[in-house]
Amino acid sequence: MAKTYAIAIDGPAGAGKSTIAKRLAKELGFYYVDTGAIYRTVAYFLDLLGVSPKDTDGVERYIDELTVEIEYDENGEQHMIMNGMDVTNDIRTPDISIKSSLVSAHAVVREMLLEMQREVARQHNVIMDGRDIGSVVLPKADVKIFLTAAPEVRAKRRCEELQEKGQKSNYDVVLKDIVQRDYQDTHRAIAPLKMCRDSIKLDTSELDVDGVVQAMKSIIREKIGL
Ligand code: C5P
Repeated sequence: MAKTYAIAIDGPAGAGKSTIAKRLAKELGFYYVDTGAIYRTVAYFLDLLGVSPKDTDGVERYIDELTVEIEYDENGEQHMIMNGMDVTNDIRTPDISIKSSLVSAHAVVREMLLEMQREVARQHNVIMDGRDIGSVVLPKADVKIFLTAAPEVRAKRRCEELQEKGQKSNYDVVLKDIVQRDYQDTHRAIAPLKMCRDSIKLDTSELDVDGVVQAMKSIIREKIGL
């Protein structure tokens, strides 16, 4: 099989991972894999069934009834397919953000999704973002970057994003959600969010999107010559 390249981007909610990864994927001609969307799809499925994301028995009982697939449209945009239904837009709510963070702590959920993420990386050159890509999913990734920013900066960016989409946002609520998710994602027993020893940390608090893209491009060039 031909060598495929993998670039792993991890970091907390709202650090700009998806915006940056999408831009880079387009420029490099790589697939962009947003793994958070996969956990969101699981959370959405359980929510539709009325299963609490904290209910381990309920999660274990119903998870086998779910099939999750990733598809790409002609523009290279990732779509999430839940039991044959496109739920790409339904999973982007603040409620599902918090629930996906709780759902992702269950071993049964992480085990179910691990192989599917690795399979995409075996087939394609990927830029994959998430929380455990460099540490668990693709420990041999060619480039590992840990993208972060101060919680207040991330909350401000999230509010701007929501406003651009015409959705209401309240800075204090968004900041509270971000801090709660940071805590949940870094304190769970399995695959917690953490920076790996071989990751390069990039704090984006003081950088705009172009600045981060340039910084990442020079890291990628140095590591794999692309
Ligand atoms: O990246 P996004 O905010 O869409 O992720 C939603 C949630 O999914 C995160 O808060 C995190 O708990 C979980 N997640 C994870 N591992 C990943 C990607 C996301 O646990 N690789």
